[in-house]
Amino acid sequence: MSEFKILITDGLGEGGQSILRAASHVDDKAGLSASDLLKCVADYDALVVRGRTKVTGEVFDAGKKLKVIGRAGVGVDNIDLEAAKKHAVIVVNAPVSTTLAVAELVIGLLLAAAREVPRADAAMKKGQWLKKDFEGVELSGKTLGIIGFGRIGMEVGKRAAAFGMNVITYDPFVSEADIKARGGEPVSIQDLYEWSDFISLHLPLNVHTRDLISQMSLSQMKDGVRIVSAARGGIIDESALLAALNSGKVASAALDVFATEPPGSTGLVNHPKVITTPHIGAQTVEAQTRAADDIVHEVLAALRGEPLRWRVN
Ligand code: NAD
Repeated sequence: MSEFKILITDGLGEGGQSILRAASHVDDKAGLSASDLLKCVADYDALVVRGRTKVTGEVFDAGKKLKVIGRAGVGVDNIDLEAAKKHAVIVVNAPVSTTLAVAELVIGLLLAAAREVPRADAAMKKGQWLKKDFEGVELSGKTLGIIGFGRIGMEVGKRAAAFGMNVITYDPFVSEADIKARGGEPVSIQDLYEWSDFISLHLPLNVHTRDLISQMSLSQMKDGVRIVSAARGGIIDESALLAALNSGKVASAALDVFATEPPGSTGLVNHPKVITTPHIGAQTVEAQTRAADDIVHEVLAALRGEPLRWRVN
């Protein structure tokens, strides 16, 4: 008889699932609705989700047997951590699995913003040859300001340096020595705003970072700055960014994340100087395989009372 009953609601790579199945009873109900989750969650010891499923207080109330929630990825904003604590349910994630995927997307967005690749491609598909309209800029010799120099910020920094960029960083929670050891040059946030040709965000969304990129911070940036965000929607005040794009203060922005997802057909999404992707930072074969492998080991360890590497709460 299987030791545990585990419910997967947002899909999980086959490799990860087979490890789970060897040790437990697994139901893969990808796309399960919120109401159906409430109806069936009482049967399970563990829930494995990605970003889609909202693990609300009601889910914890209904999940009388729940012992662990596994988030196959990084962000746990879809999980009510207070309710998890109240019900003594362990929450684990797979924070290192997606780092390289996001870092590579960011480099792609930096290059796309510098050369307007999506707009050039769209014009070609309309039969237009607008060679003279697409005079971009080079990354080489430009200053990249990285806000948040953790796992992803550091990998972006390494790759940007290989393109010949001067990488400056602001992260008040990492010591100057550690920032330097990670290949960054620590500066104040004001200097970062003032000196950066490109700014890339790699910090979490919380009460301190919401609307960090605001009308006020935008006004301190270089004219013609280019902004990339594959962190979390909400760190940028989107109406302030739109105004700065319209005034020309910001030359272009490349966004993988939005305050509301999906954002719909907004002025920002449709702006000619904005490149958008639908929160695909972690969407590579390799990252999803790693996330599945990492989370199943962590969930099984939590169920068995073994030491955990990535306990969130
Ligand atoms: P991390 O925890 O390794 O790094 C975050 C860094 O931000 C830390 O070093 C922390 O000290 C710093 N930080 C916190 N508050 C700050 C502040 N006020 N100012 C400056 N720095 C601050 O996290 P990570 O794995 O590098 O992830 C970074 C971001 O990327 C997170 O927002 C995460 O949710 C997001 N992410 C997005 C995707 C995607 O699909 N686009 C995928 C994975 C992660």
